[in-house]
Amino acid sequence: MPDYLDTIKPVVRALKPYSLAVNDAPIKLNQNENPFGLPPRIKEESIRRFMDMDWGRYPDFVPTALMDKLSAHAAWTPEGIIVGNGSNEILNAVFAVTVAKGEKVLLSEPTFAIYRQTATVFDAEVVSVPLTADFEHDTPALRRAIEQYQPVVTVICSPNNPTGNVITERDLKSLLEVARGLVVLDEAYWEFAGHTFVSLMNEHPNLIVTRTFSKALALAALRVGYLMSAPALATEIRKAVLPYNINRFSQIVAETALEHYDAELAPLVARILTERCRVFDLLSGIEGIAPHPTHANFTLTRTTRLSPRRLYDELFARDILVRDVSGNPMLKSYIRIGVGTPEETDALVEALKSIHHF
Ligand SMILES: *Cc1c(COP(=O)(O)O)cnc(C)c1O
Repeated sequence: MPDYLDTIKPVVRALKPYSLAVNDAPIKLNQNENPFGLPPRIKEESIRRFMDMDWGRYPDFVPTALMDKLSAHAAWTPEGIIVGNGSNEILNAVFAVTVAKGEKVLLSEPTFAIYRQTATVFDAEVVSVPLTADFEHDTPALRRAIEQYQPVVTVICSPNNPTGNVITERDLKSLLEVARGLVVLDEAYWEFAGHTFVSLMNEHPNLIVTRTFSKALALAALRVGYLMSAPALATEIRKAVLPYNINRFSQIVAETALEHYDAELAPLVARILTERCRVFDLLSGIEGIAPHPTHANFTLTRTTRLSPRRLYDELFARDILVRDVSGNPMLKSYIRIGVGTPEETDALVEALKSIHHF
């Protein structure tokens, strides 16, 4: 019998699958989702619109209505927008059209593990520049790496997952100026940072911005993300995106969410920001716990008395799910905690205090 697994590329065989341990607990602070959920008004209106449709028909070849609403929401031309089944799908498309075997992709790590995973599947050689000791993007080192390795794609996550730090406009510009390849800026958490670098794409046609509906917009279950770039670049990237990649229901909900963004979703973002301050202060007051300042809806938190694994287990035993990120050598004593509702914060704080009383 031939071993059919030999048909799999060695780089893929060598990869560890991306996975999440447990995915459920009453208090879920492990995936940076919107803890308040999608407002009922958006849900009801979406379902009503969906009921009025013919489900037997293909959706639009290009989701024009959604792209137009995104264009207004993000202040970017619809010709330069690609909608994906989650933003991860479009990142895949970017790698598919840029990376040839052995070409380099530059990452600023620790960051979102999916970048390394998908770049590797496309046979890229991943070059990594570590964040500084206080978890900032190391711009001088990234610039040197761009000049030395000439990556086809550099990915910068800002606010960065899992550290919550942002890149400044000046630093991003300085990377865009030296880069001959593309720079992908992942703005998955931009709503919580309160700034965006979309307008830089006017001066820097090598910049791509990706965003998602999975975090602030409370739509993780429906898988919607989008990319923005110069229209000519978007035309090329679209060649790697399958037709009808977003199902009609997700399109409708995404459109409805954008229509009600100011009235229904912006207030939730504001509440998450208020809660972020509160969690930070409360965690800072607990012995053995040290939250890192953050611009996102999660905080990287150092644990000094218990190992991250032990703390994860103790919290899980108290119905609270957090993310153990200590597998990364730079994050050996850290967990990541998402910002929850005020009640969830209270439960978290109480749990942490009870654990540390042991
Ligand atoms: C959660 C997250 C995303 C979202 O991915 P989707 O596929 O849109 O759900 C993208 N980038 C980062 C850094 C994230 O943390």
